[in-house]
Amino acid sequence: VRRIGILTSGGDSPGMNAAIRAVTKVGLNSGLEVFGIYNGYKGMVEGYIEPMTRETIREIVNRGGTILGSARLPEFKDEEVRRKAIHQLGKRGIEAVVVIGGDGSYRGALSLTEMGINCIGLPGTIDNDITCTDFTIGFHTALETVVDAIDKLRDTSNSHHRCSIVEVMGNRCGDLALWSGIASGADMIVTSETGFDENDVLDRLRDLDIIRKKKHAIVVISEKITDVDQFAKKVTLNTGFSGRATVLGHIQRGGSPCPYDRMLASQMGEKAVDLLMQGIGGHCVCIRDNKIVSYPIEKALSMPAESRKPLQNLFERLV
Ligand code: ADP
Repeated sequence: VRRIGILTSGGDSPGMNAAIRAVTKVGLNSGLEVFGIYNGYKGMVEGYIEPMTRETIREIVNRGGTILGSARLPEFKDEEVRRKAIHQLGKRGIEAVVVIGGDGSYRGALSLTEMGINCIGLPGTIDNDITCTDFTIGFHTALETVVDAIDKLRDTSNSHHRCSIVEVMGNRCGDLALWSGIASGADMIVTSETGFDENDVLDRLRDLDIIRKKKHAIVVISEKITDVDQFAKKVTLNTGFSGRATVLGHIQRGGSPCPYDRMLASQMGEKAVDLLMQGIGGHCVCIRDNKIVSYPIEKALSMPAESRKPLQNLFERLV
């Protein structure tokens, strides 16, 4: 392989730029030509593809977002559309591509590989919802953002006998809620794994107020579980706390990547280039037990989610 492409796809995450930089530098230093494909698969189909140089990636290791832009292109599931993309790559002699994104992007990478373009996936998402890897690029930065926000909410809810209900991202993966809840000393954590029993949460809040005489309470809840504004009203009506919902939203996706995410992105970027140079495609890079490894995408996508029980148990012992 002599020419490789790189793109970012799906939701963005802090650390994607560090991964772009690593792939570009390791590629150039290995004698490859590297091309940036802008706006994910959309730019691949449209031919929005430019050479990556040392200038393109200067001073991006610390920047959030992605300099290549990201987009969604549902039509990429059609073979005809992918054929157009492959034609654009062919015109430039690009034989292989690194795809940074989530599991949807991995599916696109796998179909491209099956059509002759070797692709390697890197896990770029704050949600930590790719089961084959212990961590995704961006998770630790988002965790810092969430913990910082909860620390601030704690100050103000303390002064007003409030219960803060904090909705965090995760796309049905409870890690961001669980980790931030433990790290910030939350009183309750609700995820798709714990389930949501509204009356149970209200009971426990009354307990915190009346028995434990707490001045405030913090409930961390994953997105897509309930309407937190409605729930905050119920807290006000049914407990001694005044309920306030805070939806952290896209703030969680932004910011300068923390050192861990920069390291992870650099190690994974290096691995992706090495795999492509070995002629391997259709794999995704993971970190497992602190080792950088790769798995066939098909196998990775069908891995069962690891149980979060040990961390949930820890949380229960900390309340
Ligand atoms: P994420 O990668 O963060 O999970 P999406 O699920 O939106 O985000 O996927 C990103 C893009 O990957 C989609 O817009 C589409 O272009 C491509 N994609 C998703 N699923 C498939 C699929 N089954 N086959 C081909 N391409 C896909």
